[in-house]
Amino acid sequence: MCLARRLKGGRGRRSRGHPDAARRTTWRYLATMLSLKLPQLLQVHQVPRVFWEDNIMSGYRRPTSSALDCVLSSFQMTNETVNIWTHFLPTWYFLWRLLALGSSGFPAEPYHLPLLVFLLPACLYPFASCCAHTFSSMSPRVRHICYFLDYGALSLYSVGCAFPYAAYSMPASWLHGRLHQFFVPAAALNSFLCTGLSCYSRFPELESPRLSKVLRTSAFAYPFLFDNLPLFYRLQLCWGRTHSCGQEALSSSHVYHLFCALLTGFLFAARLPERLAPGRFDYIGHSHQLFHICAVLGTHFQLEAVLVDMGSRKAWLTMQEPTLGLEATMATLSLAVIGNLLIIAAFTAYLLRSPGSCPLLQGGPLEEEVQAKRQ
Ligand SMILES: [Zn+2]
Repeated sequence: MCLARRLKGGRGRRSRGHPDAARRTTWRYLATMLSLKLPQLLQVHQVPRVFWEDNIMSGYRRPTSSALDCVLSSFQMTNETVNIWTHFLPTWYFLWRLLALGSSGFPAEPYHLPLLVFLLPACLYPFASCCAHTFSSMSPRVRHICYFLDYGALSLYSVGCAFPYAAYSMPASWLHGRLHQFFVPAAALNSFLCTGLSCYSRFPELESPRLSKVLRTSAFAYPFLFDNLPLFYRLQLCWGRTHSCGQEALSSSHVYHLFCALLTGFLFAARLPERLAPGRFDYIGHSHQLFHICAVLGTHFQLEAVLVDMGSRKAWLTMQEPTLGLEATMATLSLAVIGNLLIIAAFTAYLLRSPGSCPLLQGGPLEEEVQAKRQ
């Protein structure tokens, strides 16, 4: 009503006054309307601790937002907006790469199957992350569940990486050895450990943030190191050689991928640059946004590197016996998906059964306010 009265008054003044003044007045009304539509953002001390991000002081959404508020907030500049978009857009990029390869006759040849299996979780993990960042401000419970799913998708991505590495990137001396034979099943087992440890790492987050961080970093560093063993071996074989090391040579895309992965891990652990200037990078430039960008660039270079290995080693690899057929590939992938979903379901069930008073689920003053109103 106040706004309507002000708008009415504004129109009256606009008709009587100078055109410039009228334009300024119109802009002021538009700005007023816009600020009324957009939910107010909160400072760090106005949200419960469970929503705090290290050294991010402002730009928080209401911790009791509805699902619609969360979706709309992706069009408002909050401290999560760039996190959402830096994984939403790459989802479509990887999906486009998958569809482009799929429509080019790739799936008809069994040799290409591991590449397509890699691209499925490469599309899934940025999408899961985008959803987690979008809906993480609905309640403490939803926030934890969103991140459980995010971690699960990342774990599946680590399994997805193992398929093309086993099929196209193994060093010649490892071919059909014990590690090669069990490489993909071991990656699937690693993903269970990764999901379990990363989901568990949310529990000591408030009491022991350092322990939580060590657990989560280890949860993702371990499958990364395991998956990339063939590349590390090939790298040390070729390191410092003056002459070409033939099919063991790593392409520049492999090197860019490893560099991006290193940078991703560093940003995740170091929390730079916001650690140096808390509050200065709340909206743009904080470590999690850079972490997303490096992760996506890493996946892009990884895809390019896999394509290089797949093409350049094809003549030699097609003479070898394939490690996993279609049935074994589908069975391993299904086992990895089911196992990870069960682990996430177990953590979710525990969370749903926990009383609201448990520190992990403390909604803080805003949630209590809403509950009091409901009663
Ligand atoms: Zn993220």
